[in-house]
Amino acid sequence: MLNIQNLYKQFGSIVAVNNLDLSVAPGETVVIMGPSGCGKSTTIRMINRLIEPDKGSILIDSVDIIQLDDHSLRNMRKRIGYVFQHFNLINRLTAVENVMLGLVMGGQSKEEAYDKALAALSKVGMEQSIDQKPGQLSGGQQQRVGIARALAFEPELMLWDEPTASLDPMLVREVLIVMEELAKYRAATMLVVTHEIAFALHVADRIVLMEKGAVVESGIPSHIFVNPASQVGRQYKELIEYQLSTSASTLAGKRIA
Ligand code: ADP
Ligand code: MG
Repeated sequence: MLNIQNLYKQFGSIVAVNNLDLSVAPGETVVIMGPSGCGKSTTIRMINRLIEPDKGSILIDSVDIIQLDDHSLRNMRKRIGYVFQHFNLINRLTAVENVMLGLVMGGQSKEEAYDKALAALSKVGMEQSIDQKPGQLSGGQQQRVGIARALAFEPELMLWDEPTASLDPMLVREVLIVMEELAKYRAATMLVVTHEIAFALHVADRIVLMEKGAVVESGIPSHIFVNPASQVGRQYKELIEYQLSTSASTLAGKRIA
């Protein structure tokens, strides 16, 4: 489905992505994790060319995104959904209008766009709030509209850049549940940047660890943190062990207030 080779991007003297290789199979859910500044957003944004790569190739079903002219790129982008950290909804439009907008701009009739938007909003449990504007919705609801906007195109590939990172902790769960459902039913091939370790362990088919612009380790959730080879892998392992041991001992009532 997706095959990235030797991807490279520099901003001035900063090498953001350094000869990154990554493959994602059709229907697979791959979670990318790594410290802040390691190049996750730059990588994910280059896949739909929101950022232009300097070098490398990004093949989607053997078509190199980097080589596409404007017209072909527009068509390719219809196959790729993108969910932003900060939702990027238009405040003066209702939920359903936000979801319809891209479809109508892509040439679909209003009726057709409305039906698809309604179906997408139902998939994320937002069918009761289609006429609300973003300001009337919670952050979690806004992000679910953001997800519906991507889903409405029935994308083959969905890119997620820290979709829960700007949410109140109490609202993270409702978004993760929607994401888990999409992954479970293999609605699309998914490439997800997130710091939600429990989600990654529970939902990902594969976890990819990045450091300094490159992939340093990759594996299935049950194996990757058993005996990690990379520094970042060892750090995550320690974090997971810490979280598990502290929650377990708290639940067992062993902690003294
Ligand atoms: P991550 O998403 O893993 O936190 P990013 O891909 O956003 O990392 O950034 C990778 C590196 O590139 C960082 O050092 C960041 O400061 C730098 N960077 C990202 N975007 C730009 C930009 N538009 N201009 C200059 N530097 C950038
Ligand atoms: Mg980022």
